[in-house]
Amino acid sequence: MRILANTNTLLLFVPLAAVLSAWIGLAWLEPFPDSALQLLTLAPFLIFGLGAAVAAYFKVSNPVLQFALLLFTQIVLARTETMPPIVAVETIGVLQILVPLNFAVLGVLEDRGLLTYDGFVRLFAVAVQGVLAVSAVLIAPGLVDDILALTILPLPLPMTQPALLAAAIGIGVAILAFRRKGTPLEAGTVVATVALLLAFTRPASSAGATFLICVAGAILAIAVLQNGYRLAFLDELTALPGRRALQMELKRISGPCAIAMLDVDFFKKFNDTYGHDVGDQALRLVAKCLRQVGGGGRPFRYGGEEFTVLFPGMSAQEAVPVLEDLRALVESTPFQLRAPDRPKRASAARRRRGSGTRSRNLHLTVSIGVADRTDIHRPVEAVIRAADKALYRAKLQGRNRVAQ
Ligand code: GH3
Ligand code: MG
Ligand code: MG
Repeated sequence: MRILANTNTLLLFVPLAAVLSAWIGLAWLEPFPDSALQLLTLAPFLIFGLGAAVAAYFKVSNPVLQFALLLFTQIVLARTETMPPIVAVETIGVLQILVPLNFAVLGVLEDRGLLTYDGFVRLFAVAVQGVLAVSAVLIAPGLVDDILALTILPLPLPMTQPALLAAAIGIGVAILAFRRKGTPLEAGTVVATVALLLAFTRPASSAGATFLICVAGAILAIAVLQNGYRLAFLDELTALPGRRALQMELKRISGPCAIAMLDVDFFKKFNDTYGHDVGDQALRLVAKCLRQVGGGGRPFRYGGEEFTVLFPGMSAQEAVPVLEDLRALVESTPFQLRAPDRPKRASAARRRRGSGTRSRNLHLTVSIGVADRTDIHRPVEAVIRAADKALYRAKLQGRNRVAQ
């Protein structure tokens, strides 16, 4: 169950469940009533347009290109109805190969802006593929046919095998990017590419295909919004909720609660000794411990090397043993300091053992002050001040302890 509780995994599986439900639900939705069909002619423009506008507003440019690609795909697929049948089949076949792959790659490239050199290069690369594809369909239809007919596995599939392979590569690339960066944008790209793949299992100009392409766009739009939320409320270094999130949470608390303030001991010295980057890594490790706090405690990064844990419905006395466990966890969690010239390969590392350049385990400690609100009329700010005073006492008493 731990893997399911991980928010990063949820970023992937919640939208995936939505897409699969939409795909399965299509069996009941189809045939669409006339009113829904009218809505479906407008929906792509609405969803992709709004999505692109929100992405541009948040200054994330990859999704803008992805929405443009979705719109282009939808327009071309709808047009295939009026094309000569052979041209239509080839056009659909080529789109099915190029679109999911480009969509996925555009979603995971480093975001370098839209009206920039990199933005133009990307737009140009997609446009060149379009021109080549159109030329191939018009000038060398035989070659296109041969490519579309390539068979890798002897399986009956609702699309050509090169298309399936291209989509699998795209999804694979996006999953790797998600594992590395873990933001909603990569998760959205993975799931939207799956939705695109599912759209291609429906007849090209059908309402079902349009519906699923809209689902892909909606997934991406939600990912853009989730990303904006993260930028506003999550601390970039530790990915814990930040000060703003804490302030909003405090406004909502109406009942009793305990608030703990936590400060890393001698952190200035740690930074001075090992450098700011190592200090940053150490803060991430402290945040990792904080995520494991018991008693329903909710951790925040207050700022710098200071953190806050909120215990709704708890007294300070009840929170102390939980915080004591947290303090002990931080103390016992080793921080591995890698020697700067540490060899990357294990064999080289073995040879070097004993030469004095090994990794070292460091141990950080934290001091914690806790206060509570038993009188619900007491402002939370006063509780924070009291927790701060308790923290000061913990420092004076020798650090690495919890004070109330
Ligand atoms: P004490 O035990 O009394 O808390 O001593 P301290 O050295 O931890 O306290 P002080 O407040 O003097 O120092 C806090 C240091 O934390 C100063 C700054 O260098 C470091 N710091 C604050 N924010 C960050 C950060 O985001 N990254 C890193 N690497 N260091 C930070
Ligand atoms: Mg401090
Ligand atoms: Mg400190």
